[in-house]
Amino acid sequence: MDPRKIKIHDCEFSTYICEEEIIARITMLAEQLDKDYDGKQPLFLAVLNGSFMFASDLLKRVSIPCEVAFIRLASYQDMQSTGKVKEVLGLTEDVQHRHVVVLEDIVDTGHTVHGLLQQLRERGPASVEVATLLMKPDCLQHPLDVKYVARSIPNDFVVGYGLDYNGLGRNLRDIYKIVS
Ligand code: 5GP
Ligand code: MG
Ligand code: MG
Repeated sequence: MDPRKIKIHDCEFSTYICEEEIIARITMLAEQLDKDYDGKQPLFLAVLNGSFMFASDLLKRVSIPCEVAFIRLASYQDMQSTGKVKEVLGLTEDVQHRHVVVLEDIVDTGHTVHGLLQQLRERGPASVEVATLLMKPDCLQHPLDVKYVARSIPNDFVVGYGLDYNGLGRNLRDIYKIVS
């Protein structure tokens, strides 16, 4: 891929992971999910907005019977602590006794996924796993077991393929990283 530079808001980004590589890795994940969830009719929960492209490209390559639903996480400041708590919005499906697979754009500190898993487990699913497009293992602050990772990256800020920088960049077909 020719290195390309783009400017988003005040920052410069350059091409990092091309669409072909993303799709190749997603295809492998889909094959793994087909094997692991054969006969289990999983419920895929895609976390909006960031996972919209990942969810689409992954799930059209999954061929076992499955359900798909979309949730959003709203951050609000907990009155009792300084930590941010994320509220799950839009989950109308009954997850009790279901095999749930959360679809995320990126796991950074793991704070978001950790909180989401806690809330989902309270609803009594048969199992919960996480499939993420990107993961920054060096940044992880929770003992999370993220079973399905399309691609691990170092601690660089990235945009594209669903990921935004202050609202822009989600539509880009490749992933770009910030030029430091
Ligand atoms: P965590 O809670 O794991 O620290 O962060 C997860 C959220 O932070 C992601 O869902 C995403 O919205 C945002 N995030 C973390 N790293 C990046 C990054 O490199 N690029 C973008 N665009 N968002 C990021
Ligand atoms: Mg996310
Ligand atoms: Mg964002």
